[in-house]
Amino acid sequence: MSEPLDRSTRWSYDERGEPREFSYQRFGSPTVSAAETALSELEGGTALLFPSGAGATTALVLSLLGPDDTIALAEGCYYGTGLTFATLAPWGVRVVEFDQTGPPPDGVQLVWLEAPSNPYLTMPDLEAAAAHPAPVVVDATVATPVHLRPLEHGADFVLHSATKYLAGHDDALLGAVACRDEAVAEELRTFRSRTGIVAAPDPAWLLLRGLQTLELRVRRQTETAALLAERLREHPAVETVRYPGLGGLLSFDVADAETARKVETSTRTIVNATSLGGVTSLIESRSRWEGERVPPGLLRLSVGLEDPETLWGDLRQALD
Ligand code: PLP
Repeated sequence: MSEPLDRSTRWSYDERGEPREFSYQRFGSPTVSAAETALSELEGGTALLFPSGAGATTALVLSLLGPDDTIALAEGCYYGTGLTFATLAPWGVRVVEFDQTGPPPDGVQLVWLEAPSNPYLTMPDLEAAAAHPAPVVVDATVATPVHLRPLEHGADFVLHSATKYLAGHDDALLGAVACRDEAVAEELRTFRSRTGIVAAPDPAWLLLRGLQTLELRVRRQTETAALLAERLREHPAVETVRYPGLGGLLSFDVADAETARKVETSTRTIVNATSLGGVTSLIESRSRWEGERVPPGLLRLSVGLEDPETLWGDLRQALD
């Protein structure tokens, strides 16, 4: 039987007038809790769900840091994470960027890594980060627990945009944080209940369904992405290919912004859209969002579950 979807916002008290396990949805609900249990098992920690990846980022930072604390943020990671932190600047959140392939800088209160970074696809030096005294967060949205379980490498928190591979079908907006320490997870849960940054049952149910095929999807996406990266490296119109050898995300550069626009609007099977991690392959030029932070000809490709040769044929005709 699949997990029932319970949309109630309240559950009756017991015969003695005491709250049962679930009383009010903001404090916890059965479908969300079932999805959290499934994700906890995958990550080897205590997982909590949030309404989006950005919501999870906000909740985690606000619950861990005080005014004038500084986050060491992996340079070239998801640009939206930097925007979230910048939005929190009036509350005293400070950021320094650093190269995550080496050790984090001294004097920071939180280390924020991305495995691999989106869209530069660098992998963090997890050992160097674990040796730092500050808590370490690894956004492992792109790696997924199929390829990496950061808590086993000394991270304190794993963050996911569950919108992407975990839910996996481009139809659920959701975030997750898996905590190494149960007591810290409890504090984050209380923070979540009080601030209301809480996930709803419907996307949690879609996450539960997506998790059933996570491994199959990600392994196949990785195989296809590795093949496409190899072929792209040989194409004369492609200058640089970034692929870390795991996961379904890659990026590559063509000559300039105009060429990139031409390529992204010329694919037929691969959809010209933002986001990543679903069963449909998506391509987009990233400078539209990130401006000069990325090369003007950078295209990000999220590899779906279509036939690999069909995908290569589509890319090749667009590049030609
Ligand atoms: N982290 C990474 C690596 C992402 O790619 C994204 C979104 O693209 C997020 C976090 C934010 O997630 P959401 O869009 O679910 O808020």
